[in-house]
Amino acid sequence: MNRSDSLVNLNKVDQWDIIVIGGGASGLGIAVDASKRGYKTLLLEKYDFGKGTSSRSTKLIHGGVRYLQNGDITLVIESLKERGILKRNAPHLVRDLSFVIPSYDWWSSPFYGIGMKIYDMMAGNLGLGKSIMISKKETIKLIPNVNKKGLRGGVIYHDGQFDDSRMAMTLALTADSKKTTLLNYCSVENLLKDQDEVIGVKFHDNINFKKYEARSKVVINATGVFAEDIIRMDQPDIDKMIQPSQGVHIVLEKKFLKSKHAILIPQTSDGRVLFAVPWKNYVVVGTTDTQVKKASDEPKPLKDEIEFILNNASKYMSLKPKMTDIKSVFAGLRPLAATSNKKSTKEVSRSHKIDIAPSGLISVLGGKWTTYRKIAEDAIDSAISINKLKKKKCKTEKTKLFGFKKRVEWSDPMHIYGSLKSKVESLGGSTDNTSLSDKIFITNNIIKWSIIHEMAMTLEDILARRTRCIFLDAEESKRIAPMVAKKMAEILEKDQKWIDKELKNFNKLIKNYIV
Ligand SMILES: Cc1cc2nc3c(=O)[nH]c(=O)nc-3n(C[C@H](O)[C@H](O)[C@H](O)COP(=O)(O)OP(=O)(O)OC[C@H]3O[C@@H](n4cnc5c(N)ncnc54)[C@H](O)[C@@H]3O)c2cc1C
Repeated sequence: MNRSDSLVNLNKVDQWDIIVIGGGASGLGIAVDASKRGYKTLLLEKYDFGKGTSSRSTKLIHGGVRYLQNGDITLVIESLKERGILKRNAPHLVRDLSFVIPSYDWWSSPFYGIGMKIYDMMAGNLGLGKSIMISKKETIKLIPNVNKKGLRGGVIYHDGQFDDSRMAMTLALTADSKKTTLLNYCSVENLLKDQDEVIGVKFHDNINFKKYEARSKVVINATGVFAEDIIRMDQPDIDKMIQPSQGVHIVLEKKFLKSKHAILIPQTSDGRVLFAVPWKNYVVVGTTDTQVKKASDEPKPLKDEIEFILNNASKYMSLKPKMTDIKSVFAGLRPLAATSNKKSTKEVSRSHKIDIAPSGLISVLGGKWTTYRKIAEDAIDSAISINKLKKKKCKTEKTKLFGFKKRVEWSDPMHIYGSLKSKVESLGGSTDNTSLSDKIFITNNIIKWSIIHEMAMTLEDILARRTRCIFLDAEESKRIAPMVAKKMAEILEKDQKWIDKELKNFNKLIKNYIV
């Protein structure tokens, strides 16, 4: 992917078939689907690909055990099917992860055991493994750090795990390889209209500080929690459509879990579920569900949310984590559909909706990472249904994603590049493959690759989304940031002033990730 090439493409096209606004899971998924069907597509992202909710998830490709508890059967069946498709199409990024549900009373194991058997049945032949009930001794063997006081046994079940922002990047690269034009750091500021019909967008390039207009047969709004802002550019008087709900995760050292299995805590003090998931040598624990009034680009974790996670996780861990043990904390916003009744956000369905405005503007509302492919298919089928596009069949069920590699070594941090691993490693000399940190994995070759092939523009892009340094260990990221900025400046041919500006922005940002 090359930003300058994308800018050149802009001038070559008078009218696109599709303009997608938003470069998260939904927007990038739509770009892949659109390009596979052969539509001329432009995608515009205000910041970096995956900067929004799509880099702040629990990192699960799952049917959703909690949705099963809520009785949202259609969503669970759809998600389990998509889980299987995604694992088949990106085996280098999605892996099978087993979860242990520890039980502390007589009824829990049979209750969750039966529930998980139903979950297995719903997955059909796309299942990842059979769930089973296990004894107390087996539970301790699998999770040595589990709280043993009152423990009676447990249940194991299987779901998928992934690296969300690397998946976003993989979708961007897949769309790019199928001739989609993608631009990060371009914010849509208004819609172009011909009488009552939406015929394109006005946008600002935040790197070159230039304004553009682009025309298209259809505009698809995939801006997640900001979808309402775009809809208001078309219909200023609409009622509230989206209720943002914040979810926080904390990241701990591996010693708090000491297992390759994850824990599902089935009942928190607010009646939700909580996960403790091994991820890249650390443990991610979350999440929360807190209604917030206004969406923001960089949501801030609340002290109450962090305490809630620590308190609930501590009940299940023999080594109790404290505030000072937190290596990173991050928050994301769920774009839940606003409801007029007094439902709490945890009860609002996570399934997606496609809104078609009288002007022809198509908006994606809600959804999950797991179902991004189906969301994309539904969005484009909607454009076809209102005669905005020539009918063409969706092909993504069988589309292998960029870097597809059937078998990868999960303990190798380079597995995220799949079949491209050796290309990344051969960009510089052999010392360029040595990590700049003992704690988090980042090399000079990765920095170079991210800039040349993955459109990384800022220090944050590299440390937050091309690699996951900030999300794993914020203090350590702060320590290596000057080294990374210097290397970036060398590749991008930037001066000390650029380095200083990047470090200033980075030091402001990192405060949100440090407790
Ligand atoms: C705490 C939490 C945990 C989750 N865990 C999971 C999980 O484990 N598994 C799962 O399947 N799902 C999970 N989800 C859900 C999943 O992460 C989201 O459904 C998904 O990431 C939403 O993607 P999106 O593309 O719709 O939105 P986003 O990722 O937010 O993307 C929208 C993009 O639009 C851009 N944008 C906004 N305005 C403009 C503009 N004017 N011009 C151009 N671009 C613009 C934004 O910068 C942003 O990048 C979780 C969600 C949360 C909050």
